[in-house]
Amino acid sequence: MFGFPKKEKKKVEFVPTVEQINSLKLFTYNKDPYNSGVFVHNENECKCDVCGTTPTFIYAGPAYCNGDVKKICAPCIASGEAAKKLNATFFDPDACDSVSDPKKLEELITKNPGYFAIYNEKWLAHCDDYCEFLGCLDFEQMDKLGITEKVTMLLEDNEYGYSIKEIKKGMQKGLVKLCVFRCLHCKTILVDMNM
Ligand SMILES: [Zn+2]
Ligand SMILES: [Zn+2]
Repeated sequence: MFGFPKKEKKKVEFVPTVEQINSLKLFTYNKDPYNSGVFVHNENECKCDVCGTTPTFIYAGPAYCNGDVKKICAPCIASGEAAKKLNATFFDPDACDSVSDPKKLEELITKNPGYFAIYNEKWLAHCDDYCEFLGCLDFEQMDKLGITEKVTMLLEDNEYGYSIKEIKKGMQKGLVKLCVFRCLHCKTILVDMNM
């Protein structure tokens, strides 16, 4: 493109509407993909590599497929079309807890967005099913969900022997992320301390 007068591009921060946020709520194992950071605003107005539409949000999580990183919209992940057309999965099956029904693993890795933390992300299970991913949350976000106390309790006897203070410090430096999950059945909160 040329011939247009160069205009100062104003950076307007994108603030999604409630309807836009709700339009992403299509997944069993991720109830709120916008707030958990798995989809981002499609700033550059890319087309979805699967359906060709220009979605408001594009997937920002892991995708295991041949070739380039793909642009994918949420409905194409939810329907399974993206997995089929791109021969893709969106989370490493070896990084998922085991559950007895193989269809649940299939749904998790082919019809659900994955996520990035820092290193060796895991998908936790409870009550013989995968949990819903709430996000890699900071304490303010946990407060909003009313789960700070539960998470703090879970962290108290962490395998690394870190104090809560040390964990918070690590989070501020970006060295630690708390990946928070909730059981779909008994609502138990689970945390994977990722670093
Ligand atoms: Zn699409
Ligand atoms: Zn449970």
